[in-house]
Formats: sequence, C-alpha cells, structure tokens
Amino acid sequence: MTLGGPEPAAAAVRTVVSRATDPAPPDMPVAGPLVDRFGRVVRKLRISLTDRCNFRCVYCMPEGDIPWIPSEEILTFDEIERVVRICAAMGVEKLRLTGGEPLLRPGVEELTARLVRVPGIRSVSMTTNGFLLPEKAAALKAAGLSGINISLDSLDRDRFRQLTRRDQLDRVLEGIAAAAAAGLQPIKINAVVMRGINDGEVETFLRWAREQPVDLTVRFIEFMPLDGSNVWTRDLVYTAAEILEQARRIGPVEPVHNDPADPARLYRFADGRGTFGIIASVSQPFCASCDRIRLTADGKIRNCLFAVEEFDLRELLRGGAGDETVAAAIRRAVWVKWRGHLINQKGFVKPQRAMYAIGG
Ligand code: SAM
Ligand code: SF4
Repeated sequence: MTLGGPEPAAAAVRTVVSRATDPAPPDMPVAGPLVDRFGRVVRKLRISLTDRCNFRCVYCMPEGDIPWIPSEEILTFDEIERVVRICAAMGVEKLRLTGGEPLLRPGVEELTARLVRVPGIRSVSMTTNGFLLPEKAAALKAAGLSGINISLDSLDRDRFRQLTRRDQLDRVLEGIAAAAAAGLQPIKINAVVMRGINDGEVETFLRWAREQPVDLTVRFIEFMPLDGSNVWTRDLVYTAAEILEQARRIGPVEPVHNDPADPARLYRFADGRGTFGIIASVSQPFCASCDRIRLTADGKIRNCLFAVEEFDLRELLRGGAGDETVAAAIRRAVWVKWRGHLINQKGFVKPQRAMYAIGG
C-alpha cells in the first residue's frame, strides 16, 4: 500500500489555550442552553478517555514516536463526571466515550455507570475498535451503555492489517459478535473509505451486513485531514456520491429521514434488507446542524473536530474553580464556534491534534 501525497494537507498550528478569566463576549447568554453565535444548540458531548491505542490506523495515528499525553494530565473519573454534570445542567443529553481506544482506560465500565446516572443524561454510548469487546461487552451493557460504534475498515485480513497495522481482523469480528450477544444496541460499524485502498469493499461490506443475524448499520466515513502522519490528500477521499453508486449495484436504495444533527445520512435498500449511512464530512459538510462538542482526555474543550483553538478546563478543575466558572468557560468555548470548518476553502489549516488525540 502506498500512501501519502507529496505535501501534507496544510501546516499544523499551535493550539491556543484560552482561560476562564478572559472576559465573556457581551452578547453571550449567561443562562439557558449552550448556544453558539449562529444559534446552534449543543446537546452532545464526546469524551476522550485516553489518547492511547492498541491499533495504529494509518488514517489516524503515526506508526511510532507518538508524544502521548502524560498520565497526570489525563482527567480523572471525578473530573470527567463533574464536567458532565455541569454540561448536563446546560442541556447536554447524550454522551459518547471515545479516544484513542476508550476500552484501554481501566475502569471504563465504572465510569459508564457513573455517567449514566448523571441527571439529564439520556444516553451514554461508545466508539471503539472492538478489540477488547469480547472481555468487556457484557460489563458495558450491565453498566448501562446505550449503543456502540465499532470501527472496521476492511473484511480482508491483509487489508485490515495494512490499515490498522495490526493483524486482528478475527478479534474485531469476535468483538462485534460479543456486543451483539451482550445485547448492546444499536451496533454501528464505522468504515473509513480511502481511495485505492479499501474503496472496492463498499459493496462487500453492505452484502456482509445484510447477511448478519443482527441489525448492523455500516456507516462509511470520508477520510478527513486529521491523520497523524500527514498522509491525507483530497485524492484519497472516496466521496459519498461514489459510495452511493457502489451501494446501488446491490439494488435500489432510498433515503431515510433521520435526525438532521446525525452526521450520517441514512439510506435503506428498497428490498428492506439493510440500512447504511454515509458521513460526508469532506464532500458535503454538515456544520449547520452540528450539535456537539468534545472534551479531550487532557481536559480541553474543542468546539469542532477541525478547531485550531481549544479551551482548557483542567486548570480550572484542578485550580479550585467553582461550577459557575467552569460552566462559563464551556459557554465561551461554545459561543465562539465558527460557522463551519474550512476543509474546502483556501487557507484551511489542519489542527495540530490528530484524531486519536482529539477523540473522534
Ligand atoms: N479507537 C476507537 C475507534 O477506532 O473506533 C475510537 C477513536 S477513533 C479516533 C473514532 C473514529 O474516528 C473511528 O471510527 C475512526 O475510524 C475515525 N477516524 C479516525 N481518523 C479518521 C480520519 N482521518 N478520517 C475519518 N475518520 C477517522
Ligand atoms: Fe486507534 Fe481508533 Fe485511531 Fe484506529 S482510529 S488508531 S483504533 S484511535
């Protein structure tokens, strides 16, 4: 597999850390739901539990020399729960645990159970590579996990190894089976599609999902410029239109009207056998309906995947700040969210953090 264009998509920038003591913008509401300047309301929080991972996916992480976040900088469970309580009081309802690989965080089941009980939180779900699900699926279900997204980019053993840099396809398939056996629902399969690498597998994935004994929604994700090795080029993005074209080789498909804030546009086969989704972050950005923010493992709020500015909560949490101060910092982080990412515009600057360190 050859990867990488001659140039990275854009130069990385230094992340700016803002402080709670910065004056609040005069027109920012100080109560009510978390809202930004364009009227979008935040209902979802993605929480990265760690930047560590047992895989090294080419579209996400570099192969070696990874500058891990020092462990003392990682938020504790108490700190995470506190941020969640504060966000829930401002209208956040849905949480997703991610990473890095969230199942590598010891006690993740305990944290799940704690977050499920926070007043106002309606669901806690997870995105995982599935490797540890054979051991952990039942405990996660018992802890109250609502649904699970499992990343799987190839059903071919060699290609899976090339993409993840780990020879663990069978183990991930076992993880999917374990999630189904534990009753975790819904189960969604996330597949990043890269031109010339696994783009030939769209049809294979859909046929595979249609044959599974449990309901699996495969969601194809366009490759975003958030990789750790600067391999992204626009040519490698296999677009939503091309994915849909392959799906139609199986049979007629029709759109499903789903929540506009869901990043995936959903489709179903007209014969009733299977639903799939496409996350077209590059070719059809959905910023106008975005309702999420992210908390990095080291306690920074990011108001967009592609943000080049992040807001430090850890210093506040560890510096004796009261809930109101922390809430004000979160409000400010949301308020200044931009209208939309700039991937398709001149001057796009790739954020310094890659996906594994942001919490995808
Ligand atoms: N380790 C877990 C996993 O792989 O599911 C959770 C973290 S991973 C960063 C979250 C999701 O981001 C995965 O579905 C992964 O495929 C996706 N992802 C990572 N890098 C990406 C990129 N450059 N473009 C699009 N999706 C990406
Ligand atoms: Fe790890 Fe997930 Fe990134 Fe793959 S996509 S390297 S499994 S964090």
